[in-house]
Amino acid sequence: MMHRKETGKSVVYRFDEFDAFGMASAPGASFVGTFIVPKEHAHRVQEGNELGSLLNLYDEKVYGIVLRKQWSRAKRRRTWAYYYPPKAYEMAPCDCGNEDTHWSEFEGHLWCDRCQKDFIPKHNGLFDGPIPVRVAAKLGVRFDRVILATDRLDRFDMDAGKWESEKERP
Ligand SMILES: [Zn+2]
Repeated sequence: MMHRKETGKSVVYRFDEFDAFGMASAPGASFVGTFIVPKEHAHRVQEGNELGSLLNLYDEKVYGIVLRKQWSRAKRRRTWAYYYPPKAYEMAPCDCGNEDTHWSEFEGHLWCDRCQKDFIPKHNGLFDGPIPVRVAAKLGVRFDRVILATDRLDRFDMDAGKWESEKERP
């Protein structure tokens, strides 16, 4: 849930277990936090992508935007994972320097064999921003995935922009 409230000089955005799992750069958790944005900068907060734009503004450390509280650490289990490892998508390595990581059982996380831990990558490589599927296809990137419950390989059709399992549905 997101609540927006205007006060005298600021706009306050309050997020209460806000579901951010669909965000390209979400670190795999729901979001709990409050942003206080000076009114003169409120126009930079995009409607429909409030959390994304607020996090960007906050990361830029400008405009006097204040963030209170942190990411909620609730983790959601993956139902599928890409067939190819995170390295194939240029995702950030583990802090220890290991680039050969695996998909963690939790969304938004990777697994490092060397450290025996789940971690949130510093960036999500190709997944940060809209995936340019056709460009990626030309470069030989594949988006095939494995459905974990059944171990089924689900191929991604580059022309249709869909997985095979999605095409089966009417
Ligand atoms: Zn590591």
